[in-house]
Amino acid sequence: MSEFLTHLTQTLAEIDAAGLMKRERLIGSPQGAHIRVGEREMLNLCANNYLGLADDPRLAAAAKAAIDAEGWGMASVRFICGTKPAHRDLEQALARFLGTDDAITFAACFDANGALFEPLLGPEDAVISDALNHASIIDGIRLCKAKRYRYANSDMDDLERQLKQARADGARHVMVATDGVFSMDGYLAKLKEIEALAAKYDAVTMVDDCHATGFMGPQGRGTPAHAGAKIDILTGTLGKALGGALGGYVAGPQPVVDLLRQRGRPYLFSNALPPAVVAAGLEALRIVEAGDDLRAQLFDNAGYWREGLESLGFRLLPGEHPIVPVMLGDARLAQEMAARLDDLGVYVAGFFFPVVPKGQARIRTQMNAALTRADLDRALEAFGQAGREIGVLT
Ligand SMILES: *Cc1c(COP(=O)(O)O)cnc(C)c1O
Repeated sequence: MSEFLTHLTQTLAEIDAAGLMKRERLIGSPQGAHIRVGEREMLNLCANNYLGLADDPRLAAAAKAAIDAEGWGMASVRFICGTKPAHRDLEQALARFLGTDDAITFAACFDANGALFEPLLGPEDAVISDALNHASIIDGIRLCKAKRYRYANSDMDDLERQLKQARADGARHVMVATDGVFSMDGYLAKLKEIEALAAKYDAVTMVDDCHATGFMGPQGRGTPAHAGAKIDILTGTLGKALGGALGGYVAGPQPVVDLLRQRGRPYLFSNALPPAVVAAGLEALRIVEAGDDLRAQLFDNAGYWREGLESLGFRLLPGEHPIVPVMLGDARLAQEMAARLDDLGVYVAGFFFPVVPKGQARIRTQMNAALTRADLDRALEAFGQAGREIGVLT
């Protein structure tokens, strides 16, 4: 035991020495555009709270009412004694919203992606994955026995090569798996092209739309709706735009959902969502379906923020998504910039290797609908001052 713990302590020291130690700042207020950190009020530009629903009183009220009426926990997995009418209501509401036959909920999207591949694909099958896919897709694919292929991020020539290879290798079924939005860059997957290539090689398509459901595309129906593409299987989360708490799902054709209920391990062997989370999820969906004003505010903010940063002279990655990465290149610069912004009351996170490639360190900012013009002006002033102080702006 003592040698074991010494080894772990050494590993931690190595993480720290490499400048990779993640330290958690304590937030003393509800999640929102303004948060309290210690004694300070800060502007928060790094939450996945795209529609500003994380502290919405309507969601809190729905959750409280469900606790009073239905109790706190289910103390069961779904198939033993853990399914209430509201669980099915939420699944059917998600399916309706996303335009699929049905949906099945999990404790998190990490679990949805962990559940998805293993029951659907066997050793005779192939799964082709974008190189920048989320860790939960990578892990889910590791758990399945299908042959694995990988294509360079959004490289459609490479995807076609991998599809040809999978077919040449004699795959029975082929699935193409991608994030709808690549969250380090805010780039959207090329779903129209993926749809066409999948049709050409008779492949099934799967999109993880965590960074899009609720706000991208008409009525916030996600990247497939945004691109006008038909995607077979979707996974997503209630932990971002849809209220920001937790809960994940798979939405898709009836046999996919039905088989996951029978064989999805994180479904069969893990607890049902509590009534409060289910009720707030239903309320979030109701708000989101009628939320054109929230989406307009979000994209208005994103446009204003992008323009403001560009006119200050920052280098951004191009795009339309409310993820707006401010490119600094050097990891040390990104850390200095984040620290200076912290002093100035703006809460952001620096991202550097190994999360993004070497030399592409950045501050990833995320817009949300709860930020006001005055907030954005204050943040722009802070970015300008910090940028001049650390020498990235002249
Ligand atoms: C956030 C995220 C997840 C994990 O979602 P949880 O519900 O928090 O587990 C999975 N995939 C992608 C692409 C994500 O951005």
